[in-house]
This record gives sequence, structure tokens and C-alpha cells, in this order.
Amino acid sequence: SDPHLDVTTFLSSRRHSGTTALIDAATGRRVSFPALWRSVAALASALSSRLSVRKGDVVLLLSPNSLHFPVVSLAVMSLGAVLTTTNPLNTPQEIAKQISDSDPILAFVIRPLVGKLPRDRDFPIVLLEDCRIAGDDARIRYTIEELTAMEPDLRRRREPVSQDDTATLLYSSGTTGTSKGVVATHRNLISMVQIILNRFKLEEGGGEPETFICTVPMFHVYGLAAFATGLLGSGSTVVILSKFEMGEMIRAIREYGATYLPLVPPILVAMLNQAAPLPLGRLRRVLSGGAPLGREVIEGFREKYPAVEILQGYGLTESTGIGASTDSAEESRRFGTAGLLSPNTEARIVDPDTGVSLPVKRTGELWIRGPYVMKGYFKNPEATSSTLDSEGWLRTGDICYIDEDGFLFVVDRLKELIKYKGYQVPPAELEALLLSHPEITDAAVIPFPDREVGQFPMAYVVRKAGSHLSETGVMEFVAKQVAPYKRIRKVAFVSAIPKNPSGKILRKDLIKLATSKL
Ligand code: ATP
Repeated sequence: SDPHLDVTTFLSSRRHSGTTALIDAATGRRVSFPALWRSVAALASALSSRLSVRKGDVVLLLSPNSLHFPVVSLAVMSLGAVLTTTNPLNTPQEIAKQISDSDPILAFVIRPLVGKLPRDRDFPIVLLEDCRIAGDDARIRYTIEELTAMEPDLRRRREPVSQDDTATLLYSSGTTGTSKGVVATHRNLISMVQIILNRFKLEEGGGEPETFICTVPMFHVYGLAAFATGLLGSGSTVVILSKFEMGEMIRAIREYGATYLPLVPPILVAMLNQAAPLPLGRLRRVLSGGAPLGREVIEGFREKYPAVEILQGYGLTESTGIGASTDSAEESRRFGTAGLLSPNTEARIVDPDTGVSLPVKRTGELWIRGPYVMKGYFKNPEATSSTLDSEGWLRTGDICYIDEDGFLFVVDRLKELIKYKGYQVPPAELEALLLSHPEITDAAVIPFPDREVGQFPMAYVVRKAGSHLSETGVMEFVAKQVAPYKRIRKVAFVSAIPKNPSGKILRKDLIKLATSKL
């Protein structure tokens, strides 16, 4: 009787809709909602009859964004099986480690990535290509085309799937430690979709249907949220880009009349740094999420692209991407905010040392509770109990404050604070300051180990072309604006700051670089 037993119920209710569900930006290939539903049903049926996939089994999907990605994800989830993904850029060692943790019974892979799968695993492979060729890996059992071409057996008895069953096992990015498997249920995903629809007013019915561009990675919760919201919630058209490339993205925005574009901050910065404004067609809204967005970027963007609103979203893999968001230009105008707490969210700001709750406007660790908070980390009870308490509160690891109107401000990540003589220095604050220098295009601040003071802030800086800004120039610029303990005490110039797909600075890499010379 529950109409929302599993996430894919949303899709089945949309099967008669005539609109386009998916478009492959590279080839222009379109998939209608009825065709998408048919492929999902056929694949689910074949997975169960040919490959014995059962409820609770883990299935790996290793692929860049593609038309197949949503089809495989939804088919796996509709069986009550568990979707796990991995970053296609991961090394074979990283992939092997994740596979030994998640223990999938089956892998969906594109041909160029088959070689990254560990040799000693003998799970069957489904190739995400049309046909097999001589010399293909012996573990390849089917191609996706073979499975989706099979007649779905609609009389087949499905094991019932409930909202408390696990739907996905996504791995956190591992920016601040080792990447951990995050167990999310159907309820988590459904509430994520509903909250995004509600906050960003993407529901069907009112006005024209939206067209999304999905260039954020689908293996990450951000990309999953983007396509799931489009397909399951709003009945929008999702235009898929296999990877980010500026020219390709702009072409797709114009050609398909995109209205809504989820991005990560470094891409917004690149759009801002164009000599002339890019032609953005009918684009109305850009969502920025995954990492902090600088105030000068918001200001600059508004000036350069006045027809486009910037929305912001804050979330973690552990909260299925949900937490806070702005839903209008008006809200983004509170510069620096990550937005209002999401609907159905309870939040506390807690002193990380004493565990005591702090009042409005005081800074501490953000704890959140809501229907989208993960079940726990996979096979890792210690990590689970130190992150999620028995009452359902998730420790976000983010240092934040909430203002009197309920707006959230993310100051920094607890694990990334620099400890200078017992003082805590938030690198994000120094980075924002550096970015306000007219000759600096990008910057990252890291802890540099020092026997006397513990750690001090060191900056990696990307200068504007032709700038002669010196190391002391950088240090003095910051010193004038911060308390002495926050001063930058070492500077290096680089041509680019390394970042991960969700736009976060890879501080670990920079720390390695800085300390390798010691
Ligand atoms: P790991 O926990 O393994 O280090 P990760 O935390 O980098 O991985 P994600 O789940 O991708 O993995 O990142 C969540 C974090 O991203 C949040 O805790 C927060 O620090 C940051 N973040 C996300 N959105 C925003 C935003 N709008 N503003 C500021 N920070 C954000």
C-alpha cells in the first residue's frame, strides 16, 4: 500500500510521460521515459534470471557519466540489490581496496576500465559497450545491450523492497582520511529527492519542464542526486556529459536549452575567468555544491551572468548530499552562507572538545539529524559509532555557525584546521582572503610541520599571468588582515591547485609536496 516502496517506484509512475528522460550530449541520442523504464525493467529482470542478482547483493558500477549509468543504477536498486560506484580515475590499487571492502558479486564496466579491475576477482562482468571483441577479458559474461534487449519478465516475483533496505554504498571522497563506504537506504534517497525538489522548486506541473545538465560525476553523491532528482522527481530531461569540458558544456547548454546546471566551485571560477561572458542560452540556475564558494566568485558571477541565479548546496556523502541550501538569489546574497537548513533537518552546533551544544552564532561542529542521514559505514562499527550517535545525530566534521535566521555558515573542516601553538587556524578563511587579492587566481593553505610551533600555515598560490607578486608580498597582504597566529609563514607559487571531482582542494597532495623537500 505504500506508494514509495523503493526509489524506482517513482520512475514506474512516470512511464507514460512523453518527454525525453535522457540525452547523451556527445551523440545526441535521446531516451524517452517509457524507453528508460523498459530498459530498467528489462535489465532488472535479466540480472535476476541470468546473473542471479538478489536483494542485498552488492553490484559495482565503474564508468564515467553515460546513458547507461542511470539505467544500471535504477535496475540494481529496483531489485533491492546495492549499488556501489568508484571514481574511474582511481588507480587499480585504490579500486582493488574498495572492491575488497564492498565485495561485489558483479561488475558493470566500460571496456577501457576493465584492466583496472583486480585480476584475482572472478566475478562476472557486464560490459557497457554494444559488442564484445576478440581478446576481451574472459570474465565478461554479457554486454549491456544483450541484457536490456531481453524481454522483461513482468510476472517475475520480485522480493519486496522496503524503505529501510540498503540502496547504495557510495564511498566518501577520502579528502580528509581514508575513503569509507557509506550505507544509504531507499528512504535516504527518497527524502534526498523530495528535499531537493522542494527547495529548488523543481516539481513538475508548474511552468515549463526543466532541462538539467549533468556533468558532475555520477559515481559521487552529487551526480547521483542530480540524475535521481531529474528522473525520479521532476520528470526533467537530463543531458549527460561524460566528463567536464567547458566548450562541450556550453554547447550542450545552448543546443538542449538547459535551464538548471549543478556544478562544483572550480568550474564556476573558470566560467568567471573567461575574457568574454560565455553564451548560456536559456540557463536560469547554477547550483554550486561540494566545496565552499568564495564571495568574490558569487559577486563576479552575478555581474558577468546577470540572467543566471547561483544557488548553493551543502551536504556530505553521509547525509546523501543534503544539509543546507539557498533557494534564491535573495538567499545567496547573505554572502558566505551555505544556505538555510534543509526541510526535515534538526541541527546542533557542538563544542568539539566538550560535546556541549552552543547557542546561535557561536562556532563549533555541526551535527545534523534527518531522514537522509546514512545507516552507517559499511563493515566499520568503530567509524560508525564515532560519527553517528544512537539518537541519529551525524557529526559532520564541519566547523560552522548558524545565524539568528537559521542560515548555515561553514567555516572549515575540523580535520583540516591548522594547529599553530595551540591556536586553531582555519585554512578556508585564509584561502578566501588570498583570493581577494587582485593578482591571485587560486590558492590553497596547508599545515606545515614545525618543531617549535607544531604547524604553521603555508600557502600555495597561483598568480595571474604577468604578475610579479612576491612571496613576501603575499605574506604581508595576509598579515595586515588577520590576527598574528593566523599569518602565512611560507609561500610557494604553482601553476594550478590540485582538486578532486567535487571541487575540494587535495591538501594531502600539497602537504606531501611541501614536506617531501624537508
Ligand atoms: P572524506 O570524509 O572521506 O574525507 P569527503 O568528506 O571529502 O571525504 P564528501 O562527502 O564528498 O567527501 O564531502 C563532504 C564535505 O564537503 C562536507 O563535510 C563539507 O566539508 C564539504 N562541502 C560540501 N558542500 C559544501 C558547501 N556548499 N560549502 C562548504 N563546504 C561544503
